[in-house]
Amino acid sequence: MLLDKFEPMSRVQAELAALGIKPFGAVTEQLLSATEGVVEGRRVILAGTNNYLGLSFDPRCIAAAQAAAARWGTGTTGSRMANGTFAEHLALEAELADLYRVPHAMVFTTGYAATQGMCATLAGPGDVILLDADSHASIYGGAQLSGAEVIRFKHSDPADLEKRLRRLGERVANTLIVVEGIYSMLGDTAPMREIAAIKQEYGGLLLVDEAHSLGVLGDQGEGAAVAAGVGAAVDFFVGTFSKSLGATGGFCATPHAELEAIRFSTRAYIFTASASPSVVASTRAALAIMRAEPELRTRLWDNARQLYDGLKALGFRVGPNPSPVIAVTLTDRDQAFAWWRRLLEAGVYVNMVVPPASPSGDSLLRCSISAAHSRAQIEQMLAAFAALRTDAAG
Ligand code: PMP
Repeated sequence: MLLDKFEPMSRVQAELAALGIKPFGAVTEQLLSATEGVVEGRRVILAGTNNYLGLSFDPRCIAAAQAAAARWGTGTTGSRMANGTFAEHLALEAELADLYRVPHAMVFTTGYAATQGMCATLAGPGDVILLDADSHASIYGGAQLSGAEVIRFKHSDPADLEKRLRRLGERVANTLIVVEGIYSMLGDTAPMREIAAIKQEYGGLLLVDEAHSLGVLGDQGEGAAVAAGVGAAVDFFVGTFSKSLGATGGFCATPHAELEAIRFSTRAYIFTASASPSVVASTRAALAIMRAEPELRTRLWDNARQLYDGLKALGFRVGPNPSPVIAVTLTDRDQAFAWWRRLLEAGVYVNMVVPPASPSGDSLLRCSISAAHSRAQIEQMLAAFAALRTDAAG
């Protein structure tokens, strides 16, 4: 029967409940700041949020949201295609286009809708989507919806990308290449220069999901492609407001004038209510801060290096390079659950990732670092991880 397929998931949930832990969907009962809260009854350092610039509690963003709610009300109560396009949405689109020095941008209600919607709409039956094997679920979801042939290339492997493009021959003209700027699981940055060079040589269109790299890389926080000096090779910059910008929503910015036609063809844009005015207003405030205050990025990277170097020195298996996403990889899922709980007990909340969300069969204790973390908080995180090691050795 239909519901039988949920049996394995129910079993896992029951196992976790028996262990007395809630690594998925733990309840945040109180937020004390951008980096501290009360989770499942414990006061903790938040080391699992994607609040890279720490802007979710910035007084300027909060004030912008409050003013917009007072002026425009709490929701738009309609689609962008109907009554849901307010001046705020257009202003944000103009600001995003300006960030990427392109003439066109569109704003979506979530980051998921932006990536899924663009992938599903840009390619169709008879076309090809050539995507990185470690792509986010929203990319896979959009590719599947598109009806195009979906081909994966090895994660961040330009030689494999090139081989597959070469094999496509004339079909390259109908191919959408999809990569991410920083990958969300291990925090590794895509080899953007090599990818851009291959795209320029073979053709096709290039979509870059800068979800985790917006605000993190680039002089003004534009993301991995602009930071690598290859923004001109990108056809579609896609991203989210839910990480560095501390809100919710997503976008696509592009030099292609067809975006105005794409707007009228994208179901994830048309058949959903537009973003609430307060969300758009805080996003606009955060975007301006992201561009104007590169010192936030300096602090973010200093913090990321402190945690990465510290974890490495403790002997943990971390990603290939320092990054605001720092994942400790464990082969044993039960140990990962036990360690997740020990970290929570020590006052450190990290994200738990298990297959199939993690790229290999491994489990991850995934830390996300913020410009708002203090050195003392990072030292506390490292002390909590060090205690795991000591316990394991003893
Ligand atoms: N793309 C990538 C690469 C992501 O990591 C995420 C969020 N985890 C999204 C898109 C979706 O963004 P949002 O959560 O803002 O909907």
